[in-house]
Amino acid sequence: MEQWKDQLNNFVNTLDRLKKYINVTSEEEQAINELGTVWGLTPYFASLMDRDDPNCPIRKQMIPSMKETENKYGIENYLIWKENRATEEKRPDSIARQYHDRVAFTVTEKCCTYCRHCFRRELVVDRSISLRFDVNEGLEWIKQHPEIRDVLVTGGDPFILPDDQIEYLVRKLREIKHLEMIRFHTRAPINMPMRITPALMKILRPYHKIPIFINVQCNHANEITEQTAKAVYDLLTCGICVGNQGVLLKGINDDKKSFQELHLKLLSVRIRPYYIFYCEPAPGVDHFRTPVEKGAELIRDCIRGTVSGLAQPMYVIATNIGKIPLMPDYYIIGKSETEYKLRNYKGELTTIPNIPE
Ligand SMILES: *Cc1c(COP(=O)(O)O)cnc(C)c1O
Repeated sequence: MEQWKDQLNNFVNTLDRLKKYINVTSEEEQAINELGTVWGLTPYFASLMDRDDPNCPIRKQMIPSMKETENKYGIENYLIWKENRATEEKRPDSIARQYHDRVAFTVTEKCCTYCRHCFRRELVVDRSISLRFDVNEGLEWIKQHPEIRDVLVTGGDPFILPDDQIEYLVRKLREIKHLEMIRFHTRAPINMPMRITPALMKILRPYHKIPIFINVQCNHANEITEQTAKAVYDLLTCGICVGNQGVLLKGINDDKKSFQELHLKLLSVRIRPYYIFYCEPAPGVDHFRTPVEKGAELIRDCIRGTVSGLAQPMYVIATNIGKIPLMPDYYIIGKSETEYKLRNYKGELTTIPNIPE
């Protein structure tokens, strides 16, 4: 059997299995017993957790916490609001739309690991809403909307699907004349790198004028191993660029050291930082959220001036009206008819001429 199927067959989603990997605290045990939530991770990802430290950044992302019952700031019916599901336009459940030219195409609600900070948690973790994920219905909708250039295949995690379904999806999407690119949003290279098998590569590799891009989600340097590096390299050999869409998470990566290490380590395994998301106001994730400014401050203080330009993500807030970039706002501090006054990450000043239109 392929190794990745083994990972799913031995999914760590019971206390007994979890205890093989970590010394479970009483707080963790209580949350697992009382919350009745979907949780779990692959044995591979479980082996990256710190056995003794409940503050381990992977452990905090994966193990349920009683803090999930607190919901002071979460927006009610978050997913309906965020994905514009209550708007006039008729769309299948699988299609979420915020932009004219691109849509998110949800093909499953299952994941290879269940992140506690998931913004789709009503669907994926709490299972308080259920949607119909009919792939053919989604494909048909896309076919009838010639303005759609770019389809983001997401979930859940689309790479939890068997090879034949991924092959079908890619083939059918590429038959749609107006599509110019396909994106897969998957955490598999991070939490189940053995998913990138020769058989999957054979499906993804053939040259085609409609490119495939992959964005993963990696939030801490500890999530990156030799196996991650190999999986990403294998994807690159299939002509697939791999980017990261990280989430700013309190107590996990919101300190300068972790934030910088994450971005440097991503590049070292050939993953290009694409976005850092502000942790969305979904219900039950209050304990992961920082003030909004935090991400921009981190970019200013430990990324912009101090590490490679290739390591710079764009910091964005994902909202119902699209993603809103929030970069450090210290750059232009003054403007006259003749010049701009600019400031860098250190607070140093310089001027450049202001050219009239
Ligand atoms: C994030 C998202 C996109 C893609 O945004 P990009 O900025 O192009 O990466 C498209 N549609 C929806 C509904 C999204 O949430």
